[in-house]
Amino acid sequence: MENQDYRVLLYYQYVTIEDPEQFSKDHLKFCNELGLKGRILVAEEGINGTVSGTVEATQAYMDAMHADERFAEMPFKVDAADDHAFQKMHVRHRPELVTLRLEDNHNPNDITGEHLEPKDWMEQMQREDTIVLDARNDYEYDLGHFRGAVRPDVETFKDLPDWVRDNQEMFEGKKVMMYCTGGIRCEKFSGWMMKEGFEVAQLKGGIATYGKDPEVKGQLWDGQMFVFDDRLTVPVNQVEHTIVGEDYFTGEPAEHFANCGNPDCDRRMIMTEENEHKYMRSCSHECRTHPRNRYVEEHGLSEGDVQARLNQIEEEDSVEKA
Ligand SMILES: [Zn+2]
Repeated sequence: MENQDYRVLLYYQYVTIEDPEQFSKDHLKFCNELGLKGRILVAEEGINGTVSGTVEATQAYMDAMHADERFAEMPFKVDAADDHAFQKMHVRHRPELVTLRLEDNHNPNDITGEHLEPKDWMEQMQREDTIVLDARNDYEYDLGHFRGAVRPDVETFKDLPDWVRDNQEMFEGKKVMMYCTGGIRCEKFSGWMMKEGFEVAQLKGGIATYGKDPEVKGQLWDGQMFVFDDRLTVPVNQVEHTIVGEDYFTGEPAEHFANCGNPDCDRRMIMTEENEHKYMRSCSHECRTHPRNRYVEEHGLSEGDVQARLNQIEEEDSVEKA
């Protein structure tokens, strides 16, 4: 039995922060005092964070935030964990909480799509007159997504507005139901789509909330959810488990996520654990032989060990081609 003495918090609030630069400095000090680790973005438009810490530290953090009237209503998504999910504590001051760089920036407190509770979401996504849009990056979709959801052909979230304009006939006459990890990306993007003339709804609290909801239990979600911390993947559907991810090297079903061992490459890939070791968690021969390969360092492989694995890859690949 693993110890679940830690917790991971995910949260955001769109609310005016008068001096975000000073706030960031003070907040970092506060988080360090509590022994939290994680990543928090602070902007004049609000706060967006994910932190890990002991049960006591995360509770103290939530209590302190809720005691501040700006964050009194801020919802926290709480995951039990057996360790920290981050190596360090960062609080960064940014011009916006999610990078969309809209020509005409708006505040989600002024315009945003209808918020759907998990139960309403599950019911409405099965209707003919709705279309489900994944408002995340492509690699997140590839690991797991709502059944039947549209996968926008964009590498990063900030390219979504252009993609929607190019593909608008797909959404005409339908209610667009969008979702993301914790909900923050949809808060702003749904408002933009409404300004473009679409009928838009968003999943309240995102996938993170949907997976924990006692009624829907994450149903109609296939695969796993990508998270931006050391865990990389977390389960969503508590009723059935379908694997939708494909191994980077062989295409076989997989849902283990890892970044390429070459720190200069850092490509995000889905792979089986077996292939992580076989290919030394690296996307190419060049990355496998990079002098600072993280897989090689972590596993303390000697030059001879590395060469033996390279030979094995070459042998097996030539057998497959023959
Ligand atoms: Zn690579």
